[in-house]
Amino acid sequence: MAKKYTSKINKIRTFALSLVFVGFIIMYIGIFFREHVWVMTIFMLLGLLSIIGSTVVYFWIGMLSTRAVQVVCPSCGKVTKMLGRVDMCMYCREPLTLDKELEGKEFDEKYNRKSRKRES
Ligand SMILES: [Zn+2]
Repeated sequence: MAKKYTSKINKIRTFALSLVFVGFIIMYIGIFFREHVWVMTIFMLLGLLSIIGSTVVYFWIGMLSTRAVQVVCPSCGKVTKMLGRVDMCMYCREPLTLDKELEGKEFDEKYNRKSRKRES
């Protein structure tokens, strides 16, 4: 039953990093099609797009980080950043909440979606 949750910022960071790798792999595959210039060009462009995409995602993390709330994790004592009403500690994966109502309840990422709906 134990689902694995990661802090949102870490999740996005992992996604951006994998985009860079995917981009390089696509470009590397393109080298094998040197004889077909247009195939190689398509692979190169796709790889480039993927790398540009990761840059955009990294930029987005930067924007999110400035909006994230800094809290001291009660479990490991480190300063971590959280997004939304519920998030996880970046270091020890302790579920954290800013909402007193949700304190002590089981961690669930859908609380974030609910709150977003209520605000709009
Ligand atoms: Zn912690």
